[in-house]
Amino acid sequence: MFKSLNLDDNSGSNDKLPLETEKVKCLIIGSGPAGYTAAIYAARANLNPVMYQGLQPGGQLTTTTEVENYPGYPKGITGPLMMEDLNAQAVRFGTDVRWGLATKVDFSGSVHKVWIDDEKIIEAESVIIATGATAKYLGMEDEKKYAGSGVSACATCDGFFYRGKDVAVVGGGDTAVEEAIYLAGLVNKVYLIVRRNELRASKVMQDRVMRVKNVEILWERQTKGLFGDGVVEGMTLWKKKGTPEEEEVSIKIDGFFLAIGHTPNSDFVKDFLDTDEVGYIKTIEGTSKTKVPGVFACGDVQDSIYRQAVTAAGSGCMAAIDAERYLSEKHGA
Ligand code: NDP
Repeated sequence: MFKSLNLDDNSGSNDKLPLETEKVKCLIIGSGPAGYTAAIYAARANLNPVMYQGLQPGGQLTTTTEVENYPGYPKGITGPLMMEDLNAQAVRFGTDVRWGLATKVDFSGSVHKVWIDDEKIIEAESVIIATGATAKYLGMEDEKKYAGSGVSACATCDGFFYRGKDVAVVGGGDTAVEEAIYLAGLVNKVYLIVRRNELRASKVMQDRVMRVKNVEILWERQTKGLFGDGVVEGMTLWKKKGTPEEEEVSIKIDGFFLAIGHTPNSDFVKDFLDTDEVGYIKTIEGTSKTKVPGVFACGDVQDSIYRQAVTAAGSGCMAAIDAERYLSEKHGA
């Protein structure tokens, strides 16, 4: 690995100053469970990985409280602590973990270029994209006020804390329906808040949720706000907002789950990699390989279905192994 000044390519920078260029064998973009697992495997395979952590070092897990479903932690662990452990494990084997955000890429040549903070270019022989996805929120102030105190965007992660209680799930797609059904098995009652008078979810999932006795679908409702003393104790909904029959209702709940979709953090690679209509990076089935040789994707940025820390970690392992094999073949090992 070495550093040099790139006097030819100033794109992405201010017009005058040359950008510093650094060559690396394996660049990992993103620092959630997928990125860190890729780093641990890549470091142990002597790929000298360099990781850029991105906007949210540690990824989505740093915004959750207790993680109880990650194997190996019988007593559970907080999200931030788990990410500290993963970081320590990656660093222990020599991963170079850095602050910084990948802002654009050029995957058109044999060496893959990645701009960091528009200030520096990394020329990487292999790139592992593990930039995750961001859950969508409604944009209410109350979501921030009660974050971790009754508001969650992951029923599988947090549902267990609401056993025997009443909760609400917002959304009408497959995720919302799936999460409502999952929660119904744990809690006393689930209110599914749907903004239109129909669900977007697949027919089979619609049929399934209709059969669950403790799920009540509240049609044509939108959330006005949440209330409670420090923790969520209820929600206020608009019924038929914007119509002559508009009315407000307040319902007591303990948990408020958002399931209105995720945005995969893939914008910066879209010109070079295939993505689906939502933006999830497409990989060759059963692998982490994208359509560009030497560029791999793992974790939530390529997974619209499972989105769990443990599945992200598993796919990070796959990406590091795929990268190692790619580099071995390239160098004729
Ligand atoms: P979707 O985009 O499919 O659905 C989002 C839902 O949230 C819609 O019902 C939408 O309402 C609602 N919504 C969006 N914004 C708001 C808002 N501001 N207020 C209230 N409601 C809102 O996202 P999903 O995460 O459900 O699914 C993403 C993809 O993943 C889909 O292709 C889905 O099929 C797939 N998936 C597949 C699963 C499986 O196969 N097991 C499981 C989970 C997801 P509206 O309908 O009015 O637009």
